[in-house]
Amino acid sequence: MIDFLIVGHGLAGSVLAHLLLHSGKRVVVLEATLPHSASKVAAGLVNPLIGPKFNVPLHMEECLMANERFFRPFEEELGRSLQPELSLHRILTSSEQRELWLKKSKTPDLLPYGPKTRPPGDYKSLGLDAPFGGGIHLARQLDVSGFLRHSEEKLRQNDCWLDGAFAEEEWPHAEKIVFCEGFRVTSNPWFGDLPFAPAQGEILCLHTALPIAASNGKWIIPDDPKGSLAGSTWKHESLESGPTNEGKDEILQGLNFVPSGLLEVADHLSGVRSGTRDRNPIIGRHWENHRMHLFNGFGSRGATTLAFYARRMRDFLLNNRPLPLEAVLGRFARP
Ligand SMILES: Cc1cc2nc3c(=O)[nH]c(=O)nc-3n(C[C@H](O)[C@H](O)[C@H](O)COP(=O)(O)OP(=O)(O)OC[C@H]3O[C@@H](n4cnc5c(N)ncnc54)[C@H](O)[C@@H]3O)c2cc1C
Repeated sequence: MIDFLIVGHGLAGSVLAHLLLHSGKRVVVLEATLPHSASKVAAGLVNPLIGPKFNVPLHMEECLMANERFFRPFEEELGRSLQPELSLHRILTSSEQRELWLKKSKTPDLLPYGPKTRPPGDYKSLGLDAPFGGGIHLARQLDVSGFLRHSEEKLRQNDCWLDGAFAEEEWPHAEKIVFCEGFRVTSNPWFGDLPFAPAQGEILCLHTALPIAASNGKWIIPDDPKGSLAGSTWKHESLESGPTNEGKDEILQGLNFVPSGLLEVADHLSGVRSGTRDRNPIIGRHWENHRMHLFNGFGSRGATTLAFYARRMRDFLLNNRPLPLEAVLGRFARP
């Protein structure tokens, strides 16, 4: 008998699996290596101020703390940081947005993120075009692929890994099954009807490294030692199209503060985010079949939120503690 079968080793399945193993549970992770996984292309940006209005999202401080606690032992094993801090320059796009930044950067909500303001001239000296200047705040960049490689190695060493796709008849000896299938959840017979809204996203690897990480809605961040990563796009149709010329053009044109000479594309990738209609994760136990569980719907912010929600999911699975109301599966009537 095993206590938990985790279906899917993206960021969601891997983080949850290690938390359960750490609690002494017998865990197997099953991974089918399907195309278009979000974690394989995620830039890993952990951004505490989202959108053009610089809002601090729900649970932000707890998410940062959960990341710190979860990744620290892996960083010690690897001898390097998995989520280095970076200063993110928000390139301001209008005088209204500059006013908003100046106002918000003085509020207590933003203080933990060290807000500073930069005049247009600072960017000019870097060869960037930012006529309204920029706001700077702290962010992090999680090395998602580095963590997943390490996680797989550890799970294989401990006989907790199986290659293959899920088939229910093969798992009578799994007490609980947790589906962490990313956007493939829409084909899941127990949970596929929930209000998911998967979105394809594209990302560019650029030859040149900018001296700063910057965003004006589109973002460009250093990807040492190779160059930079730039993204991203969002579309709800043709999910499995792979990278498209439209996606590439959208990213390059969006980065209008960077001279085109610095935007030479080395590689172009895409993946599918498992978004939801109300933009919150969907996690919990099936309403009838109490063996089946879901841990999914992390949209465009899995690198920020996953360790937080995985801890809450672990506490639910092991001790029946309540799940956060915004994420609990039970918020939906039976589909
Ligand atoms: C272009 C792009 C850029 C992004 N950038 C960021 C970013 O900067 N910051 C951030 O926080 N987030 C970012 N994200 C979002 C982030 O990638 C996701 O929130 C997170 O990776 C979701 O992980 P997941 O494990 O739920 O899904 P996935 O990564 O899709 O993993 C699902 C896994 O399950 C496996 N699987 C599926 N079905 C089965 C089955 N039946 N049997 C066995 N295995 C199965 C798949 O092979 C896959 O490995 C980005 C996403 C995209 C697409």
